[in-house]
Amino acid sequence: MENRIPENRKKYLDSLFEAFSLIAEGTYVFLCDMQYDYSRWSKSAVNFFQLPSEYMYGAGTLFLECIHPEDRKGYAESLEEIFSGRKGCHDIQYRAGRIGGDYVTCTCRGLVIKDEYEQPTYFAGIIRNHGLLGDVDSLTGLRNQYSFFEDLSGHIERKEKVCVSMLGIGKFTEINEIYGYHFGNQVIQKFGRYLLSFVGSRGNVYRLDGVKFAIISNTSSSLEAKSLYEKVRTHLRKGVPVADKRPILELNCGMLLLDDFDVGDQTIYACLNFAYGESKIRRHGDLVEFFNDLNEENKLRIEKLHAIKASIKQDYNGFFLLYQPVVNASTERIVGAEALLRWKNDEYGLVPPDHFIPVLERDPQFPELGRWILTKALTDSKGLLDKHPDFTINVNLSYTQLEKPDFVESVISVLTETGFPADHLCLEITERCRLLDMGLLKTIVEKLRARGVRFALDDFGTGFSSVDVVKELPFDTIKIDRCFVINIEDDEKERAIVDHFASIAAAYDAKVCVEGIESPVMRDILQKYKVHSFQGYYYSKPVDFCTLEELMDGKDNDE
Ligand code: C2E
Ligand code: MG
Ligand code: MG
Repeated sequence: MENRIPENRKKYLDSLFEAFSLIAEGTYVFLCDMQYDYSRWSKSAVNFFQLPSEYMYGAGTLFLECIHPEDRKGYAESLEEIFSGRKGCHDIQYRAGRIGGDYVTCTCRGLVIKDEYEQPTYFAGIIRNHGLLGDVDSLTGLRNQYSFFEDLSGHIERKEKVCVSMLGIGKFTEINEIYGYHFGNQVIQKFGRYLLSFVGSRGNVYRLDGVKFAIISNTSSSLEAKSLYEKVRTHLRKGVPVADKRPILELNCGMLLLDDFDVGDQTIYACLNFAYGESKIRRHGDLVEFFNDLNEENKLRIEKLHAIKASIKQDYNGFFLLYQPVVNASTERIVGAEALLRWKNDEYGLVPPDHFIPVLERDPQFPELGRWILTKALTDSKGLLDKHPDFTINVNLSYTQLEKPDFVESVISVLTETGFPADHLCLEITERCRLLDMGLLKTIVEKLRARGVRFALDDFGTGFSSVDVVKELPFDTIKIDRCFVINIEDDEKERAIVDHFASIAAAYDAKVCVEGIESPVMRDILQKYKVHSFQGYYYSKPVDFCTLEELMDGKDNDE
């Protein structure tokens, strides 16, 4: 060999390697003397990938053979950038395995060390084998949520400016419904692979959950991010070949440029989720950036969210419940109340739930808060039952609470702890629960109904598959959203809609509650339909528990 490494340099390489291995516990280490392209690799890596030896000339090229064919291009490009001196570090993801064996997902981070003449001398790095670490999504082979949070907190800690995006496939339920679940999975796989190859050496791709993916990249401007996203969008609109079909994929995307390092990974995630929701609901899938610059308003928003989230850990300090009475539609007597969450502190004042629930509900701590809400509502209401034995308390649920495998047990244990009778509790769920597996949801509803708990479908008619949900799940009550009755005084069509909704409910043996009654005229009109209860400012705004008690006593005395 023309350019063999001299013994003294090999010794130096060895001693550096030993030092380096010590700190990189649990991962593979490689160290390359760039002048001779001579490397030493961890023994465990050599064994796992069946490489020729711990010491190798041209290790990069030898290792290329172990990399999945689809990922070779990105790997080779990144290596070329390092060895040509154009780049000083690399941070890439690929699938690799021994020749003829299965592939595992790996991330590789490396740094070039220069000599005193600014010439690259060593290339040192670590390879993480995620197949061994268990933080890989089994369907797509991409790294999962845990890896995403780990990487994100790393960037925050090191104060590295990166672009974080959340991308997802829109209307995926339709793909599942039309082509079946297995086909749906193949679509997710294809989508993941496409994202990985598109992003290449620019960044990392993660599967978060369901149809949501994340990308952390070195994209430096919103304009660039937008143009990259449009490329992905255009490509997927042409259809993705799966089996002999070609479904067209519509995307949604939320993005933020990380340049404020005083926030936690969960807050960033919450902001991304918010931007993603905006993209999906209001912007037909256009990329929505959480904020272009950290103006005061956005800063306040992010800090406020942070404070609200922190309250969960601080013994729910700041959270409290208000109760809005529900009245019998014909007697107008209070028959129950809905517990509505609020948050307040000295700095930010009172914050209504619409400002934080949609953002916080994907937070892993949300179910804890849900349990607190249920416990508080049942503890408060228990005392009312002696005087008002017909009273029912309604508690709202987020679909993320239902996702937890111990949801049923947690409701039962709160009922036991508080000694509250199950048949006086009504859990409200919205059509968004449609995003969950229907089989799972059905089991939950059936198990709890068997214990006596009631269920209401909240905001009926506002989603795209309201009737489907009613068909599949047994509801005791259907709550008609106030948007259908706002103009009922002058609008014939609204009356027809309410009439239609009431017939659907009757067909499925469910009662009807109309929300948003604001005037006696509305009441008079709505009393003509098959509705059972009313809720609205005309009767009472949400009030604290003492006021609710007073209202109930007052109404009872009136009779
Ligand atoms: P929702 O469950 O549909 O609650 C009804 C909302 O309509 C309440 O707003 C209530 O104050 C408002 N409302 C009631 N009557 C009238 C009326 O006559 N006119 C007008 N303009 N509004 C009326 P709020 O309290 O701001 O709650 C908004 C949403 O936040 C709730 O909608 C529910 O989806 C969610 N939410 C509230 N508390 C909780 C909770 O404890 N857990 C969960 N998961 N979600 C909650
Ligand atoms: Mg509700
Ligand atoms: Mg509602």
